[in-house]
Amino acid sequence: MSSFTDRRAAPDAQSDGAAPEFDAIIIGAGVTGLYQLYRLRELGFSVQVFEDASGVGGTWYWNRYPGARFDSESYSYAYSFSKELLEEWDWKEHFSGQPENERYLNYVADKFDLRRHVQFNARVASAIYDEHDKRWEVHIEDGRRSRGRFLVTAVGILSAHYLPPFEGLDTFQGSWCHTGRWPKEGMDLAGKRVGVVGTGASAVQLIPEIVDEVGQLTVFQRTANYCAPLRNSRIDDEWQRRIKAAYPEIFRKCSETPGAFVHQFDPRSAWDVSEEERLSQYEALWAEPGFKKWLANFYDIMMPGAANEDYARFVRDKIRARVHDPEVAELLVPKDHPFGSKRLPLESGYYDVFNRDNVLLVDVRTAPIARVTPAGLQTAAAEYELDVIIFATGFDAVTGPLNRINIIGESGLALKDKYADGPRSYMGIQSAGFPNLFTINSASVGNFVRGSESIVEWVTDCIAYMREHEYIRIQPTPQAEDGWREHVIEASQNILRSQANSWFVGANIPGKPRMLLTSPDSAPVMRARRAEVAANGYEGFTMD
Ligand code: NAP
Repeated sequence: MSSFTDRRAAPDAQSDGAAPEFDAIIIGAGVTGLYQLYRLRELGFSVQVFEDASGVGGTWYWNRYPGARFDSESYSYAYSFSKELLEEWDWKEHFSGQPENERYLNYVADKFDLRRHVQFNARVASAIYDEHDKRWEVHIEDGRRSRGRFLVTAVGILSAHYLPPFEGLDTFQGSWCHTGRWPKEGMDLAGKRVGVVGTGASAVQLIPEIVDEVGQLTVFQRTANYCAPLRNSRIDDEWQRRIKAAYPEIFRKCSETPGAFVHQFDPRSAWDVSEEERLSQYEALWAEPGFKKWLANFYDIMMPGAANEDYARFVRDKIRARVHDPEVAELLVPKDHPFGSKRLPLESGYYDVFNRDNVLLVDVRTAPIARVTPAGLQTAAAEYELDVIIFATGFDAVTGPLNRINIIGESGLALKDKYADGPRSYMGIQSAGFPNLFTINSASVGNFVRGSESIVEWVTDCIAYMREHEYIRIQPTPQAEDGWREHVIEASQNILRSQANSWFVGANIPGKPRMLLTSPDSAPVMRARRAEVAANGYEGFTMD
């Protein structure tokens, strides 16, 4: 089968100093990178994957903190491309934990013999476009190099972990880590005075898991979050049979919903029904597992406005009912952003933790963390002595992992400079001046596996189309890119995801320009848009 490389340098050429050549280089062996590798290899392309970690899994490799798990139904997060895989793999829990998720991705890598195309412990330092040869040259921190006609960044959207630049961390006498870089050998927390900074989805999963093990737990909260009960359970044999029989239906449902989750909004407005019926629906959904209470509720709850605030009141009361001390409860009740404007953390015993004698909630909104001291954390009000600090402080989302690689396109243009005022791309997939670079991490919407599968398939079809028509270069037109940026800015004004200071808009990182980092459109709209672009001969892109 013909490919794009002319084999001037065979894949084993490193020994004589020349960089090995591939049709495509993929950065990242997580959910997206593995599938992109599978697809391109299926079409006969030569592919090299570089992965920073020592194993596959991406998010599910790094986030091995206690309690890390899917917050949407495990079976909706499965790859859909292989019936055999769907038949073989038994999810053990409705919301599967990190160890099982990592096992699943390892199983996929082995089943499809993907591992031999991956170089592990290979952190990409730079990717430089060679305009003369029209190839990307990728440099690994340890000096390894490879060249590829295409470069696909499957680097995830929440992979560049963010550690606030607290002074004094190097003086801390205890141990510390970030949830997104939890050590493989674990953290020794037994009987220790442990501090957790942050109360986002990671902390909300972690805190109830460690509370029994630690001596004293101090939670440093800047912004209270709306959290809802996960209600996880084991999958028994009968459920297993039902899931397997229902896969086509599960994937069909996911393909029709805005965020590619299995839940469909109630088409009624919250005001179409009586107050009694409204409350009864809120309660019924609250008793259900997973995101139903968020994504199967009255449609206008997920729009800024009165219905959203009505539901926010309901959730605030649910929080108050769980926490015994009214002052602590009020601290845990969010009042400064609308419900659903941040990703809803799903909890398993989170609020109950604050009823325990060995747990202290510290408000670092009114008295911010000033510095790390040798003995612990100093806020504007007091010093807290700690043996361990866990930073659950989130991620420099979407653009962060790209900006941490020195990506240089045509005429020496650096992607991070081009992105200085927020992302500039066409549909999140490509950026003008960076030919054959597919930033697929930026294009996903909602349920990550469902979203990324369709993008990977689009990119694969695009590369196959180029081979068929003997094109060697693709990039968006500046006009298409400008149009997309205007669309993102305009369409994101009135959606819920833009209303809070969260990673959705880059507002969790000091100095990061505020802009919606993913598409403002629903998953079906994005899929249809991409399909139309392809059907029109990749309209908005130039190929030569
Ligand atoms: P996050 O939601 O961004 O939360 C970070 C937390 O750290 C926030 O509470 C933040 O406070 C706090 N923080 C940051 N800088 C601080 C500072 N200087 N001082 C005090 N507090 C500070 O991060 P995350 O919890 O890791 O979650 C990120 C995303 O990952 C989620 O939204 C979700 O999409 C995904 N996730 C998914 C799952 C799952 O179940 N599948 C689990 C975990 C995470 P502020 O809110 O005040 O900024």
